[in-house]
Amino acid sequence: MRPREAYDRTLGLLQKHHEWFKTVLPLIASENVQSPAVREALTTDFGGRYAEGMPGERVYAGCTYIDQVELLAMELARELFKAEHANVQPVSGAVSNLAMYTALTDPGDTMMCLSIAAGGHITMGKKKFGGAAGAVHGLEVEYFPFDEKRMNIDVEATAKKIAEIKPKLVMFGGSLFLFPHPVKELSKVAKEHGAHVAYDAAHVIGLIGGGQFQDPLREGAEVITCSTHKTLPGPQHGMILCKKELADPINRGVFPGMVSNHHLHAVAGLAVALAEMLEFGKEYTAQIVKNAKALGKALYDRGLAVLCADQGFTASHTLGIDVTKYGDGGVIERKLEQASVILNRELLPWDPRQGRHFRNPGGLRLGTSEVTRIGMKESEMGEIAEFIKRVIVDGEETKRVAADVAEFRRDYQRVHYCFESATQAYEYVKIR
Ligand SMILES: *Cc1c(COP(=O)(O)O)cnc(C)c1O
Repeated sequence: MRPREAYDRTLGLLQKHHEWFKTVLPLIASENVQSPAVREALTTDFGGRYAEGMPGERVYAGCTYIDQVELLAMELARELFKAEHANVQPVSGAVSNLAMYTALTDPGDTMMCLSIAAGGHITMGKKKFGGAAGAVHGLEVEYFPFDEKRMNIDVEATAKKIAEIKPKLVMFGGSLFLFPHPVKELSKVAKEHGAHVAYDAAHVIGLIGGGQFQDPLREGAEVITCSTHKTLPGPQHGMILCKKELADPINRGVFPGMVSNHHLHAVAGLAVALAEMLEFGKEYTAQIVKNAKALGKALYDRGLAVLCADQGFTASHTLGIDVTKYGDGGVIERKLEQASVILNRELLPWDPRQGRHFRNPGGLRLGTSEVTRIGMKESEMGEIAEFIKRVIVDGEETKRVAADVAEFRRDYQRVHYCFESATQAYEYVKIR
């Protein structure tokens, strides 16, 4: 292909993606749409710079403004999460976890966390599965005993297991995260047996900042790792919050442990997102959770096996659905995409036992962060549930549903809960 042709084609595909996303229902639980100001920060010259080390002690020149922005991001993070220390340098949630492992453990130590099937993340995986904890940092991984009905950690059995195996690190949090984890109930026993207590808030950090989920740092966690682009609607990046005593090892775990350049445009975008969260976060995240509960009920009322009906479906942005009655999660995910409903398949805790696996699992996972951000409330959740039902239950032609979704989406084109919204949520911004 001629260079110019590839160049035009790449830019053309980006534009097509933007046009497409104006017409779909974005329901992936780990995704969100950024405010115009965050997008603006991401296009700046910061994206071409380096600044190794902490502000004021950089290894690079030219950091006058970069330092001030990073200090702002750190201050805003400490304020929003009432944290003694914030490190905003990890370039992703995965890198945050690896930096935390580096700071608090040695290869060969044992960590306790959720299994992948129970909602754990690949960065918590065993070496034999290629997970970062085992394969990259050399940790032995032991799973929390899990209560599949309540979709939560079994407190009693876990306390017993902690006393028995004495892990070096107990890590809460996960990627199918419906209800607060028993941090308060288990931190004390973990610490008594010599473990550090960490909490992976990649999914729920926005909810925590908005005061809607749980408050791990007050419940006994010493450190929170996270992504900054899921319920927290910032740029794709990472962040670590911790107690003062851990600030030095955490900073060193990040640099020189895990990053050289730390994506300064994303640090700037994060500062903007944190400021917007301080102003609008409570209202935004309260609506996310209300929407998730409403969507859970609306789907359940239409015959879908939404998990944890007896517990109100969820206390977060996320819902799980068992779709085995209608096929497998992989096939249904693709069908829904043809109908412009974008969500993803999900491995459910009992899937491996029943011979299912992550490509064709028994579940779907949905999140309400993004549809909430573009202005939808509880009544719109009923309409979304109806679109999903038409595809999964009624087997209606996907093209017809897609046309109706596009029509429905027309009124939701702006990002809410931000200071300025002159540019549409999915507008393609050309600066060539
Ligand atoms: C998404 C996620 C991560 C990884 O975050 P990235 O920013 O994609 O690297 C880590 N832990 C959990 C629980 C997650 O859900």
